[in-house]
Amino acid sequence: MWRATILTLFPEMFPGPLGLSLAGDALKRDIWSLEAIDIRAHGLGKHRSVDDTPFGGGAGMVIRADVLAASLDAALAPDDARPRLLMSPRGKPLTQARVRQLADGPGVALVCGRFEGIDERAIEARDLEEISIGDYVLSGGELAALVLLDAAVRLLPGVMGKLESGAEESFENGRLEYPHYTKPRTFEGRAVPEVLLSGDHAKIAAWREAEAQALTAARRPDLLATSLRAKRGNPESK
Ligand code: SAH
Repeated sequence: MWRATILTLFPEMFPGPLGLSLAGDALKRDIWSLEAIDIRAHGLGKHRSVDDTPFGGGAGMVIRADVLAASLDAALAPDDARPRLLMSPRGKPLTQARVRQLADGPGVALVCGRFEGIDERAIEARDLEEISIGDYVLSGGELAALVLLDAAVRLLPGVMGKLESGAEESFENGRLEYPHYTKPRTFEGRAVPEVLLSGDHAKIAAWREAEAQALTAARRPDLLATSLRAKRGNPESK
């Protein structure tokens, strides 16, 4: 079973949306497990305090290193092989390739920050890898953790209906996916592209490939450049 352990100040946010639909069904079928641990259980004093003001001054509060480390040490056995990720806008941007790698492993341990973030020494001492879901700032790591989990869980064997439904998707081949069409054949005067009704599978595949290329060139030329570098074996493409 693929295991997710979340350290958070808001355990009640989990499984949240992941309790429904594809991920929720998979959770019920024990394809993956979710354990949300309250960092506050290791908080200090009567008020179970977890944060304090930043040394050097400035706005906001910082989650204490000792509190987070205690919470991590209690949650994770020393031989736990799962990657320990800290959701953070300073982190390496999450990609579909990384998601697939995580889904292929034993699971993840995710730390959700709040306030201004986490004391740097906890990140160093517990060897947390910072990971970002995009260049914007959330108020907490919980939604970022839910995003990462949703992306990973749908790739676990037995979660998606069709085995191949993951392979052709956006980002998987360094490009965006081709456009989809279903019934009706005509919608507000717009017809479905003729080729899709032809029954000629080779022609359809070629059309989809061309559409995917054109769409990617127009919207995300950076993806084409990356996949070209990957084909040439340049490690910078990772
Ligand atoms: N002061 C920090 C932002 C703190 S936001 C800075 O400027 O870098 C509070 C928490 O939300 C962070 O600790 C992190 O866990 C989470 N978070 C915010 N934006 C995120 C993003 N883009 N990706 C992942 N986690 C994010």
